[in-house]
Amino acid sequence: MIVMSSQEGNRNNPYTFDDFLFVRDHFNYYKDDEFLQALIKKNIPQEELQKIDGDLRALSDYVSFRFRDLADKANELENRIKVTKVKHYDAHNHRIDRIERCLETEILEREIFSLGLYDPTRNSPWSRFVKMFLLYENGESGVMCPVACTHGAVELLQKYEDKLQPEAKMILNSLRDGGNGEYKLAAQFVSEIQGGSDVPANLVEAVFEKEEGKDGMSNVWRLYGQKFFCSAIQADYAIVTAKPKNSPSSTKIAVFVVPSWLPGNKEKEIRNSYTIDRLKQKLGTAELPTAEITFNGAVAYPIGPLEKGLSNIVGIVLSLSRLHVAFGMAAGALRVVREAILYSQFRTAFGVPISSFPMMINQINELDQFAKRTAAGAFKIYSEYIHFNEELISGIRDLERIKDIEERKRRFRLRELIMLQKIVVADEAPAMIRKAISFYGGHGIMEDFLSSPRFHRDSMIMELWEGPRNVLLTQIHRDFSRVKDWYPAEEFCRDLLEGANLDIIEKYSLEFNRIMSHDNILRNDEQALAICRDWEVFSTKLLIAYQEQALRELEYTWKPLKFSKLIREFRKRELPKFQERIVIQ
Ligand SMILES: Cc1cc2nc3c(=O)[nH]c(=O)nc-3n(C[C@H](O)[C@H](O)[C@H](O)COP(=O)(O)OP(=O)(O)OC[C@H]3O[C@@H](n4cnc5c(N)ncnc54)[C@H](O)[C@@H]3O)c2cc1C
Repeated sequence: MIVMSSQEGNRNNPYTFDDFLFVRDHFNYYKDDEFLQALIKKNIPQEELQKIDGDLRALSDYVSFRFRDLADKANELENRIKVTKVKHYDAHNHRIDRIERCLETEILEREIFSLGLYDPTRNSPWSRFVKMFLLYENGESGVMCPVACTHGAVELLQKYEDKLQPEAKMILNSLRDGGNGEYKLAAQFVSEIQGGSDVPANLVEAVFEKEEGKDGMSNVWRLYGQKFFCSAIQADYAIVTAKPKNSPSSTKIAVFVVPSWLPGNKEKEIRNSYTIDRLKQKLGTAELPTAEITFNGAVAYPIGPLEKGLSNIVGIVLSLSRLHVAFGMAAGALRVVREAILYSQFRTAFGVPISSFPMMINQINELDQFAKRTAAGAFKIYSEYIHFNEELISGIRDLERIKDIEERKRRFRLRELIMLQKIVVADEAPAMIRKAISFYGGHGIMEDFLSSPRFHRDSMIMELWEGPRNVLLTQIHRDFSRVKDWYPAEEFCRDLLEGANLDIIEKYSLEFNRIMSHDNILRNDEQALAICRDWEVFSTKLLIAYQEQALRELEYTWKPLKFSKLIREFRKRELPKFQERIVIQ
């Protein structure tokens, strides 16, 4: 009920946000989130969960407080500006191309990379995933972008571990390690100025040079040319695409791992024969330095057969980043939505909490459902990746070599789900975060009031990163024309939605089949235009149906967040600390 205020004026306005801040800032991402606990319990085998639970809880104590504050600090404007400036020369005319980042990002990077996320002796596939999920609740791109890129680099190098040159093998070992503060980061440089979607149109050249270069290296591949979007330029290594000159596959993309500095040169700031030409000024992921660079003979080590570069980079490295984009945003959504709902219960207008207005109730429910189904879908898809021992298949041709047809189909479903999930989550997230921001009224726009504006800016990037929407929608359509003999679209859709409402399965399978049966969505005619329109709309409906089914499978009994309950609980939790302080004094 709306109550008209009958209070008199008060020049000493006592209003304070302190209770809201107290609840928001005492929330432990794992220990206080019953939904996340339910997701973890459902997906991780009990025996394994018992082993890793303590580790996850210990990390959550850091992520929810210390790392959160560091991430917020790194987002301050003066810190964001730092990663748009590069120092090309030192005082003695040496080209150094030095990047300066804020201390908070450097501390975060050190502490996160020291977790040994990719070290199989320190992390299981599930502990790695849940740790990354928790870290993404803070979403600091300056660190989380290299977390995703390093994951992709490790997976690709591991695939060819037995055949790598000794230098590349050493790189793999150092990326996996992370012990004794000796961690290393990887980036990935694919996009060029003429296009990022069209990777086969890359122009950077790789040349095998026998003669010794100025750096003293001989009989090595060297790279020449420009890359135009090089994020995490602070990284120690990059996975780079290039065309190998004078080879039978000179028009095809090959993949290389490229050290940023040759051994012993990092301290001297002598880069591996490339220059950083400029750092970009970005709307989102602003804590992350993204560079334009020119290779001028950088030493590079090939990964896998030269002619398989395109399928390896897309099928493994980019696919893994697409998983990161989606589960990273799912984690971010849990936090953004939780904080917005808590604020709506704290804030009053016209004498009542704003969460009690029917307009708001609908928006709260919509956001809550979005965050939960997105997280449930992300866990379900990632569990498929873990089911296959975290091994992605490069392309359809490799898939078709799998004799067991059920395994082949299941792997194909994972391949398509990774793309579908990336497209839809990246499309929904900016709209949903915007809605969450609206709960705060004008305060929602203030960057130092809350972290959702940063999440909003970053979510805009996710749509373009690692394959824009159109490119992935087209790729899925093309995939179905290639597998129709062994996996008809209708059957795929039924398998995907297994367990869902039968009417929905029936309706969606027919619609999916109709869209996928269209022979070519690249031809510009009325029919193709209509199919493209339908596919854009239907792709979202299909993934949402999958996510909703994942949520149902969780059998989670909805327990609405209660601001009043949390404030009581957190005060009780704080009391012993407070009493301890009094005794010490
Ligand atoms: C903040 C940021 C960081 C980045 N970091 C990196 C990085 O570290 N490494 C890296 O390699 N790249 C990076 N990128 C580049 C990113 O991967 C590319 O921007 C992306 O691949 C798109 O390429 P493009 O920008 O050249 O767009 P284009 O390829 O020119 O595409 C423009 C538009 O055309 C549409 N389009 C293209 N092809 C088709 C098609 N077949 N059908 C329908 N529509 C189509 C696209 O959907 C898009 O809307 C980064 C980008 C951003 C914004």
